[in-house]
Amino acid sequence: MNAGASLETGPRPLELRNHAEGRWLEIEWSDEVTAVIPHRLLREACRCAACLAAARAGHAVTAPAGVRVDSIEAWGPNTLRFTFSDGHDRGLFPFEYLRALPVRGREGAGTNQQENELAKPSSSSGLR
Ligand SMILES: [Zn+2]
Repeated sequence: MNAGASLETGPRPLELRNHAEGRWLEIEWSDEVTAVIPHRLLREACRCAACLAAARAGHAVTAPAGVRVDSIEAWGPNTLRFTFSDGHDRGLFPFEYLRALPVRGREGAGTNQQENELAKPSSSSGLR
């Protein structure tokens, strides 16, 4: 919380892909991490005034089943604003906060285990 002490060099989203049918959001970060975030999780992390008030009152935020992210817009240089299908439209997500959400990361190459098999070094070829 030192004003001016930070250079704001954290990772930034390079690309957002909103998969409306599957209800998940894919974020490609500038440090080559790709995060896959279910819309439901985003909704439960909503920090609009209503959700913050509920959290302060001790109510866990539970997203309605089937909730979707309807739109995403930039909100200042380091924040995204999400509009959810259940009417929450003031959820502001600073990049740092988005990045800290407990999501699965995905390596760029995909989740293909067969590739590992192929990449296995072929048996001893004269190293011994
Ligand atoms: Zn909310």
